[in-house]
Amino acid sequence: MLRFDRNDDNNDFMKQIVLATNNPHKISEMSAIISDIDLQILSANDFSDFPHVEESGETLEANAILKAKSVWGQYHIPCLADDTGLEVEYLNGAPGVIPARFAGPGCSYDDNNRKLLGLLRNVPEEQRKARFRTVIAFIDGRGSVQWVDGILDGAIATERRGTFGFGYDPIFIVEGTGKTLAEFQPEEKNRLSHRSRALAKIRPIIIKAFKTE
Ligand code: IMP
Repeated sequence: MLRFDRNDDNNDFMKQIVLATNNPHKISEMSAIISDIDLQILSANDFSDFPHVEESGETLEANAILKAKSVWGQYHIPCLADDTGLEVEYLNGAPGVIPARFAGPGCSYDDNNRKLLGLLRNVPEEQRKARFRTVIAFIDGRGSVQWVDGILDGAIATERRGTFGFGYDPIFIVEGTGKTLAEFQPEEKNRLSHRSRALAKIRPIIIKAFKTE
C-alpha cells in the first residue's frame, strides 16, 4: 500500500516510477540520474507493504528481473531494479553476485571490506584487478521487461580510503584514477560508476516508454 493517496490530484499515477530498493545510497544515486525526467520517483520507503525478495538467482540479470517483477506484480507501477556484483580476478570472480553477504549473514559493509582486504593481503598490485557490474531491469506500464548493464573496471586497494559512498567503495580503486570510489564526491561517482553507466543506457528506454504510454 502506498503511504500517500494514489488518487490525489497531484499524483499522476501514469508518471510514477518505483525504485525497487530501500538502500538510501542507491536511491540517491539512481534518483539523481533520472531526476530531470518528468516522473515522480518512489522507492520501497514509500510503501508499507513493499515485497521482500530473496536474491535467489544465479546471475545479476535474474536477480534484477526478480526484484522488478515482484514490485510490478504487487503495484503495477513501472519500476527499476538493480543488482550489483563485484568480481575480483585473484579470487576467481568472488565475491560475485552476492557481495552483500560476502563475510556471512548479517555482515556489515566494513566486515566485507575487512574480509576482502584480508584475502588479498600481500597480493601484488597487478593481481588485484576487479570490476563492478550492475544490471538494471525496467518494467514499463505494460509489464514488458528490459534490462541493461554497466561495468566499472578497477582494482582492490590495500587499505580503505575515502569517506563517500557505501559498500566496497573505500577499497575499490577506479581504473586510471588512482582514487577509490569513496574518494569521489557523490556527483563524480554518479558520472563514472557502474550503476550510472547502466542508468545512462536505460534512460532513453524509460523516456520512450513514458512517451508512448
Ligand atoms: P545489491 O545486491 O545490488 O544490493 O548489492 C550488493 C552489495 O554490493 C551491496 O550491499 C554493497 O556491498 C555492494 N555494492 C553495490 N553497489 C555498490 C557500489 O556502488 N559501491 C560499492 N559497493 C556496492
